[in-house]
Amino acid sequence: MEKRQVIIVGSGPASYTAALYTARANLQPLIFEGFFSGPAGGQLMTTTDVENFPGFPEGISGPALMEAMRKQCERFGTQFIAEDVQSVELQQRPFKVRSKKHEFLCDALIIATGATAKRLEIEGAGEDAFWQKGVTACAVCDGAMPIFRNKELFVIGGGDSAVEEAIFLTKYGSKVYIVHRRDTLRASKIMAQRALNHPKIEILWNQQITKIEGDKVVRSVTLKNAVTNTETKKEAAGVFFAIGHQPNTGFLSDQLKTNPQGYVLVEPGSTKTSIEGVFACGDVQDPIYRQAITAAGSGCMAAIDTEKWLSHS
Ligand code: NDP
Repeated sequence: MEKRQVIIVGSGPASYTAALYTARANLQPLIFEGFFSGPAGGQLMTTTDVENFPGFPEGISGPALMEAMRKQCERFGTQFIAEDVQSVELQQRPFKVRSKKHEFLCDALIIATGATAKRLEIEGAGEDAFWQKGVTACAVCDGAMPIFRNKELFVIGGGDSAVEEAIFLTKYGSKVYIVHRRDTLRASKIMAQRALNHPKIEILWNQQITKIEGDKVVRSVTLKNAVTNTETKKEAAGVFFAIGHQPNTGFLSDQLKTNPQGYVLVEPGSTKTSIEGVFACGDVQDPIYRQAITAAGSGCMAAIDTEKWLSHS
């Protein structure tokens, strides 16, 4: 079985930065960049303009930023495998990493698998009903579909994602409702203001969607108001979940310590996990900041931690 010094699992700003630094340290990193789990490049591949990554005064699209980062780490010799890691064995060194077609040993492992959009179990939202027939968890990926054109669309959530998705959807829908369970947005002030000022966006405060109905595609939603305890039915063509994320740790089979939400625990101020030689960076270990720039920063930390650990072990 082939042995590598460093394997990085996952792709995105954390992974690519870890690869860039380990490649420049001559550690010949190999990235499992994923396949069925989502697009290589991670969540930024489904984002529109990134306005807060320093160095791009006019902003840059998420996919363009990821493509540039990927090219940069490729330039220094990073290798890529377009597969998901199915399992790892971390109880003894070298560690084992398995995908469907490959099996490797490695001295150090960097986990950078990020997080995935959460969904709600609403009647009519499941795979057996309207999932991907009007119900989705990614406005940027699916918003341009003809079924949403000039129709009333509903985004669930009250954070920056919900606002960003709602603004994006105003390009397609006749009206976009943000359905939020409370009476104040969690989104940053600047984003919240954009939603509140937008002529095509209306926020439905203290409400939850309880039912999604339709024929071949979504036609209506039923909303419940938590304050008045009343239900209303509205015409709808689309329901978009924007309620946060779940860390992607299934392949770890509980071998690393996590917090109660499943985020990998790292030693404060480092990327060291509960197993020596295994490091974690990016959203998989970050329930708080979750920004492209913090993910990239922690990817750099993981590479430096890895390099130090390899030179002392
Ligand atoms: P957040 O965790 O910030 O927000 C999730 C939202 O979903 C909250 O408003 C929450 O409600 C609501 N929610 C959660 N669970 C449920 C539920 N079961 N039923 C109904 N509503 C629910 O996630 P985001 O994805 O919005 O943002 C994550 C991070 O990414 C943040 O740090 C954000 O700033 C950042 N981000 C930045 C962007 C940018 O700068 N352009 C764009 C997108 C994200 P409640 O408020 O009541 O908890």
